[in-house]
Amino acid sequence: MVDLDVVVVGAGFSGIYAVHAFRSAGLTVKAFEAGDGIGGTWFWNSYPGARCDVESKDYSYSFSPELEQEWSWSERYPAQPEILRYLNHVADKFDLWPLIQLNTRVTGASWDADAAAWTVTTSDGASVTARYFVSAAGCLSEFNVPNLPGLDSFEGPWYHTSRWPKEGVDFTGKRVGLVGTGSTGIQVAPEIAAVAEHLYVFQRTANFAVPNRNRPWRQAEETEFKARYREYREEARQSFLGVPITGTGRPVLAEPPEDVQRLFTQRWQAGGGMPFLGAYTDLLVSQEANDVVAEFMRDRIRETVTDPEVAELLCPRGYPVGAKRLCQSDDYYAMFNRPNVSLVDIRSAPIESVYPGGVKTTTDSYDLDALVFATGFDALTGALFAMDIRGAGGLPLRTAWETGASAYLGVGTAGFPNMFMITGPGSPAVFSNVVLSIEQHVEWVRDCIIWLRAQGHATIEPTSSAQDEWMAHVSEVANATLFPKADSWYVGANIPGKPRVFTSYVGGCGPYRAKCDEVAAAGYAGFALDGLT
Ligand SMILES: Cc1cc2nc3c(=O)[nH]c(=O)nc-3n(C[C@H](O)[C@H](O)[C@H](O)COP(=O)(O)OP(=O)(O)OC[C@H]3O[C@@H](n4cnc5c(N)ncnc54)[C@H](O)[C@@H]3O)c2cc1C
Repeated sequence: MVDLDVVVVGAGFSGIYAVHAFRSAGLTVKAFEAGDGIGGTWFWNSYPGARCDVESKDYSYSFSPELEQEWSWSERYPAQPEILRYLNHVADKFDLWPLIQLNTRVTGASWDADAAAWTVTTSDGASVTARYFVSAAGCLSEFNVPNLPGLDSFEGPWYHTSRWPKEGVDFTGKRVGLVGTGSTGIQVAPEIAAVAEHLYVFQRTANFAVPNRNRPWRQAEETEFKARYREYREEARQSFLGVPITGTGRPVLAEPPEDVQRLFTQRWQAGGGMPFLGAYTDLLVSQEANDVVAEFMRDRIRETVTDPEVAELLCPRGYPVGAKRLCQSDDYYAMFNRPNVSLVDIRSAPIESVYPGGVKTTTDSYDLDALVFATGFDALTGALFAMDIRGAGGLPLRTAWETGASAYLGVGTAGFPNMFMITGPGSPAVFSNVVLSIEQHVEWVRDCIIWLRAQGHATIEPTSSAQDEWMAHVSEVANATLFPKADSWYVGANIPGKPRVFTSYVGGCGPYRAKCDEVAAAGYAGFALDGLT
């Protein structure tokens, strides 16, 4: 006797929608969430300045027209507390709380071929069996603290932005060191600088940041997009990034330079990263084209930052714009004009160690009262590997993916029957409006399970050949772009020892959706059913 139809790991955007969708389809389902609240990313990342960088009208669920109409976002890019309130509202509205067990980490899951079921073990010492095991554990949820010698000896407090104390942190009058200048570092820095006695920003790699131009939604705008929300969402589903973007449809290199400057300036003033990189067709495929946009951005840094030496250090070089997640901030660069902010170049003089009173680089020492790590995540695979997942014949997922993650369409992996991943490797997830990708995955998995039951199939798993072909296609598409050309978390470069593989699908959300639908319509082509290929 199997306890449940589906066990879901995690209760962020993915897990919340998964439990709703599966229950609505008549399945018995339970989600386990390690945190003491739901919301995932928006529960854990409560650092000051945390906000989404895809506009809220896109970065929200589309599955319920009623929810869409009743919820009002206050800003273009709402801050973390508002997104968390939204997710709690969703759980209330759809009565999801009975389906979610908080404070419970899934420690392992193993496939029992005889029972055709998963046994899932949890941190409270319990176990439960389920026909299907669905990981909604998040592609950016396993946080990463750099292994700095002496960190244990540091006498002040240190924080990782993804485990921010719920009661907040008061940096007033403190000397604070910030390590990490990616999306999060760029969001948190101006907030700390506003109150700290001094902020030292330790920068290894300069990042490109475009302005948000965040502002409250005007009533008229909200009324306008809500009036055509259904149509708008459909455009988003068919779009490249999960957000409808109007580009010129032409390559930048074929345009008169003055037209290019005019368009980039307009988009810079309008704010947002996706419209900026989507302005021309060749920005993410040709280095020469990318250099045009990179130089435009470097010029904006130079005109914002008054100290030319600091400005030059802040100018990113050596990798294409967009090959690392494009950051967004309205005040990061200008923050360096404050007298209480120093940029410390740890590319030329790396951090050597932490001592009780601060941080020592190869050339200087910085006395600090507190340290903040905005050093990101073990992306895509970290949360999966944190569980002891064992597939057919007891094969650990970590072993199966020793040389890099491999999955068919990003939803399943060979050797792991009846296991599905939401936003798994091989999908466009992190290269899209992630909420839209999440909805598509959840709905595809739900429909697959309904189909399997209707057809009387006990098991499903990708064939190795379909998986290899898909991953070859993922690589081929990526290699035709500039995306793999940076040392980024996209390729695992931020985690020492992680195999360097680019596993995200950058062929676009619309084409990816069409491929997933085609596979389903062909009776789940590329999947073995009941062990038969
Ligand atoms: C600061 C920040 C800002 C972001 N902004 C954007 C944005 O603007 N636009 C965008 O598209 N994307 C953004 N993202 C990406 C974001 O992660 C996704 O948009 C989305 O929130 C992911 O939802 P999820 O449910 O898949 O994963 P998560 O939100 O990460 O949720 C996963 C949950 O699973 C839980 N979990 C993990 N392992 C276990 C386990 N073993 N047992 C039990 N529970 C477990 C975790 O505690 C977590 O609550 C951002 C990410 C970060 C970190």
